[in-house]
Amino acid sequence: MKIDDFPEEVKDYLLPSHKAQMAYECIGCEANYPLDRFLYTCPRCGALLRIVDLTFDALKEIPGPLWQRIFDHRKMLNIDGLKGIFLFHELIFPIIPLEDVIYLGEGHTPIVKANEEMSHWVGADFYIKYDGLNPSASFKDRGMASAISFINYMIKTKGIKELLGICASTGDTSAAAALYLSYLPKDVVRSVVLLPQGKVTPAQLFQPLGSGATVIEIPGVFDDCMRIVEQLAEGYEVCLLNSKNPIRIQGQKSYSYEVAQQLDFHAQDLAVVVPIGNAGNVTAVMEGFLDLYDLGIIEELPLILGVQSVHANPLILWQQTGEYRPVEVTPSVAQAAMIGNPVSFPKVSRLVEEHFKERFAAIQVTEQEIIEGMLIANRHGHVVCTQGGESIVGLKKGVEMGLVGADHKVVVDSTSHQLKFAGFQQMYFEDSFPEEYEIRPQEGLKNNPISMEASAEAIAHYLGLKRKQG
Ligand SMILES: *Cc1c(COP(=O)(O)O)cnc(C)c1O
Ligand SMILES: [Zn+2]
Repeated sequence: MKIDDFPEEVKDYLLPSHKAQMAYECIGCEANYPLDRFLYTCPRCGALLRIVDLTFDALKEIPGPLWQRIFDHRKMLNIDGLKGIFLFHELIFPIIPLEDVIYLGEGHTPIVKANEEMSHWVGADFYIKYDGLNPSASFKDRGMASAISFINYMIKTKGIKELLGICASTGDTSAAAALYLSYLPKDVVRSVVLLPQGKVTPAQLFQPLGSGATVIEIPGVFDDCMRIVEQLAEGYEVCLLNSKNPIRIQGQKSYSYEVAQQLDFHAQDLAVVVPIGNAGNVTAVMEGFLDLYDLGIIEELPLILGVQSVHANPLILWQQTGEYRPVEVTPSVAQAAMIGNPVSFPKVSRLVEEHFKERFAAIQVTEQEIIEGMLIANRHGHVVCTQGGESIVGLKKGVEMGLVGADHKVVVDSTSHQLKFAGFQQMYFEDSFPEEYEIRPQEGLKNNPISMEASAEAIAHYLGLKRKQG
C-alpha cells in the first residue's frame, strides 16, 4: 500500500524518523561506550554489554495504542528495509538507515494453534511460534539480520576494508551467520564458523558449507568452541557473531514484538515458553517485552518459562540453589541448547531480579520427555524441532506445577525446523540412541517404512481395506 492511502493518524510515522543516539552500556558498572566499533565486554570491568538508545524516552511521546497502529499499518508497506524484523526499526537499531538494512526474508513467523488433542495432552490451549520458518530455519536469523545490517552500516560509514565474522555454534548460529555474511561483499567480508566435531546435525553442517563459510571443527562441545572464539575476539581483529555480541540481541527482541502483535497487543496473562541454551534468546525475549511495556504498547509483562534438559541445566540449579555454577553437559537431543555455561546468564539474572521477578521460572525436563514432546507435536500437525519439543513439555510441566492456568494465553517457541533434527527422530524410531541419552522408545510412537512387494492386492490386504461393492 502507498503512504498516501493510510489514515492521517499514522501517515507521518510509517517511515521511521526517530533520531536515535545509541551506545553500548555495561550491565555491571553501567559505563557507556560509543557504538563505533565491535565490543563484547566492558573494557573497564569485563561485564557483558547491552545496547541502549539514549533517546529512548522520546519514543514515549507517541502513546502505546498509536504505536500499535503504526506497527500494524507498517506491515502493509512494501519497503525492503521494513519487511522483516526492522518493521520495529525504532526498537532495534534506529541509527541504521533503511537502505543499509539487510533483509533476507526473516521474521514474521506464524503462530499456529495447537489442536484439541494436542492441547488436551499438554493441559492448556497454546500456540506454537514457528521460528524454524526463518530463512536458515532457526530464530538465529533474527539476530543475524540485526548484526549483519549493523556491520553493513559500519562498512559503509567507517570505511572498513576487511572484516572476518566468526562464531562458535551448536549448529544454527553458524548456519545463520554464514548465510547473512555471504550477502555482504566478498572482497571485504570473510566468514568462519567453529563447530564441535560430531555435535551438530548433518543439515546444520551442510548449511554453512553451502553458504561458502570456512568451517572449522574441533574436538569437544560448544563451550570449548565458545572459549576459543572468545580468545580470538579478545586478541585478534575479528567480529564475534555469538549472542555475546549485543548487536545480535537487538534483532532477537523482534520475537517478542511479533508475539505481541500477533495477539493484537493483548498481552494480559500471556505466558511465553522458550528453551534455554546460551541464554541469548531468553534475554532478548525478556528485553523485547520490556521495551513494549515501557512504551505502553502492552499493559503487563508476560510470564516467561525457560526450559532446560536435565543434561544441560545450569539455570535450573541456579533457581534451586540461588547460586550460579556452570555444569558439564551430557548428550542431549535438544542439541542446540546443550550448553553448560550460558554466556548471557548475567543478563538473565539481572532481568529477573529487576523486572520479571516471579514472572520467570526455569523448568527442567528429561531427554525422554523432550523427544516425545517433539514426536507427539509433529503427529498433530506441527513441524517442531527437538527444542520446540522441549518447550512443549516444559509447558506441560508448567501446567502440572500450577504455574500456567486456564486464564493464560500461551505461546511456545519452536526455535528451529523439524528437518534439522531428523536424525534424532530416526534414532528414536530405530531404537538406536547411545546409552547416554537415556531414551527408551515407546512402540506406539515409533514409525518406520514398510517394505512390500509392488502389488495392490498385497498392500490392500496389509491395510485391511474393504473391497468396493458392485
Ligand atoms: C540457539 C538455539 C537455542 C538456544 O538459544 P540460546 O539463545 O542459546 O539460549 C534453542 N534452539 C535452537 C534451535 C537454537 O538454534
Ligand atoms: Zn563495566
